[in-house]
Amino acid sequence: MIEFKNVRKVYSDGTEALHNFSLKINKGELVTLIGPSGCGKTTTMKMINRLIEPSEGSIYINNKDINSFNIHELRWNIGYVLQEIALFPHMTIEENIAIVPEMKKWNRKKIRERSNELLDMVGLDPSTYKKRMPNELSGGQQQRIGVIRALASDPDFILMDEPFSALDPISREQLQHDIRSLQKEIKKTIVFVTHDMDEAMAIGDRVCLMKAGEIVQIDSPQQLILHP
Ligand code: ADP
Ligand code: ADP
Repeated sequence: MIEFKNVRKVYSDGTEALHNFSLKINKGELVTLIGPSGCGKTTTMKMINRLIEPSEGSIYINNKDINSFNIHELRWNIGYVLQEIALFPHMTIEENIAIVPEMKKWNRKKIRERSNELLDMVGLDPSTYKKRMPNELSGGQQQRIGVIRALASDPDFILMDEPFSALDPISREQLQHDIRSLQKEIKKTIVFVTHDMDEAMAIGDRVCLMKAGEIVQIDSPQQLILHP
């Protein structure tokens, strides 16, 4: 569970990125944040990872103030998938997936099994792909690796900031479908930022419409269609 209570964020230059922002995301729920560029989506995401602190208000994770967690434990429990595909180019696919599990000191066998399982889950045959370098994969395949890398150490929370925006429409649709089925399977709490309404509606349990640092509406896709 992730909860923002009356959060305000003013950057040092005086820009107010969030204005009295309150949002509760339930355990196992996938909420999409959508709104025009500059409305505060990325600021919201960075706050969950404690990359940015609120100027006012509080954030809770599982009913505990976010500041009460050890910062490393907090971040280890949050997978972050970025807009730009951010695989390390000089590491194999398998090594890329293993980064956080290695920091957590998992043994080799467990890491290997986990990485095979994740590759299978997104339809990439481990024996074909795990020894490849990122540039030997298509954009869509690389972003798929970005997604499973964020899942590798089994975090409870996943943040995705426009993860598919650099992809062609077909890869994009395929990945939207993958995320939906992954979500059903793994039941993680996911916050997904997009500026594409079709994408927000296609994958969100709830869609949170933002504008100028505030929530305009938050509802299930069905409700949004009935009461736009
Ligand atoms: P998005 O793709 O979400 O619209 P932006 O292009 O607005 O992101 O911002 C990209 C990065 O630059 C973010 O890390 C953001 O925090 C930072 N940034 C955005 N606006 C400013 C600003 N006015 N001053 C300093 N940094 C900014
Ligand atoms: P979005 O992700 O919805 O595009 P952001 O959260 O990146 O929006 O930005 C919200 C507002 O805060 C924008 O006006 C942006 O320019 C501003 N902003 C973001 N990061 C910074 C920063 N580091 N310093 C100053 N202003 C920023």
